[in-house]
Amino acid sequence: MTEDRIEEGSEAQVSAQPGTPTPQPDVSPSPKPAKPKHIILNSHQHRAAQVLPIQWGAADPRQRGPVIGSLRSLKHRNVIGTHAGSYGVYRALAVASGVLDPTHKADLTDTSPVVELGPHPSWSDPNKIVSLDPFGATPAAAFGDYDSNEYDILPTIAITKAHINIPELRDEIAQGRLQVDGQILKPDGSLVVTKAAIDPVWHLPGLAKRLKIEEWELRRVLFQQTGNMFPELVTRPDLHVFLPPIGGTTVYIIGDPAAITNPDLPLAVRVHDECNGSDVFGSDICTCRPYLVHGIEVCIQTAQEGGAGIIVYCRKEGRALGEVTKFLVYNARKRQEGGDRADAYFLRTECVAGVQDMRFQELMSDVLHWLGVTRIDRLVSMSNMKYNAITHAGMEVVERIPIPPELVPADAQVEIEAKKAAGYYSEDGVRSEADLGQVKGRDY
Ligand SMILES: [Zn+2]
Repeated sequence: MTEDRIEEGSEAQVSAQPGTPTPQPDVSPSPKPAKPKHIILNSHQHRAAQVLPIQWGAADPRQRGPVIGSLRSLKHRNVIGTHAGSYGVYRALAVASGVLDPTHKADLTDTSPVVELGPHPSWSDPNKIVSLDPFGATPAAAFGDYDSNEYDILPTIAITKAHINIPELRDEIAQGRLQVDGQILKPDGSLVVTKAAIDPVWHLPGLAKRLKIEEWELRRVLFQQTGNMFPELVTRPDLHVFLPPIGGTTVYIIGDPAAITNPDLPLAVRVHDECNGSDVFGSDICTCRPYLVHGIEVCIQTAQEGGAGIIVYCRKEGRALGEVTKFLVYNARKRQEGGDRADAYFLRTECVAGVQDMRFQELMSDVLHWLGVTRIDRLVSMSNMKYNAITHAGMEVVERIPIPPELVPADAQVEIEAKKAAGYYSEDGVRSEADLGQVKGRDY
């Protein structure tokens, strides 16, 4: 690759193969879509380029401006990174292997939200929402008059409806803990929900302010700690919005979404961070799935009272340390002297990861602001970090609902007692350090 053939901010012909400086014309007919034969660097602002500004926090989406992260809209891109979070990397694989035409234009016919959520006053407060695009579900409504061939403006939020079937709910109906109403909870045990998938959209100045650091410091470390993946973080101070390659958030709304913002109606919320081992596979080392199901149960009961329930599901596996770290920690916990003990629960994580937690719950409140939440009557969580994030963000929490003791799996006593000792909400007090050492899990 010869450097003098690359122009920053403009199109430049470079060889696709290192070591062969002269581009070779592709003369063989191929049924696969054509791959791009040149590289366009956007690492510096081109003198002539004028991208549409993003006025974060503006109440009118036209004034706020579109988020243009598509690679089909190169000269109009006004953000760093690209769409679909971590799946953007798979998109690159699909293009590289020739199965996806990089110029493919999404046909968004009939994809608009089936339920209208917002706008809410929080959408126009640049400090309340910094990690998602509040207008991300409806770009077609705001920017439908833009030439879609020129400006590839894609949604970052999708809103649909579903029926979900969870075996535990059928058991609860059989035990009389839940009542079938035919609207929200059907006789066959299926639950009717509205759900929204949200990709992350970070407003870097707002994010830095939330984390109490300088924007430049945030940009520099993001650049370095992603292996220099996004040079624009440090070379394009004119761009303030970043689409990070991370997992997003899914929201499940039970009951009438309009009830969320009605102060006369009750609202239940559980914010749940992904735990694949328990949520999907039923691992008994933690309380995640039983607590999630209990959260859904409380949401159903609240919706049946005329209110609404919200489950926020965040892709932050293993406290955002990832599942590899998590399984390493499981091994370290079970092999340590004295076995898996509540008094060493957090210590083992810190030994492996260097920290106990990287979820940054202070960003979690954004999704609740996006939904227009101002008061939570029943917060189904014992986490002090989540409670603090929600209340610091200005939302009122009326009642905190712990996991019922009978739902805690035997091997998860280590986790729950360690968390209570570390400050999690508890109705029955905290055990002494000596007691904690006696709370033990299985070997394997
Ligand atoms: Zn778990």
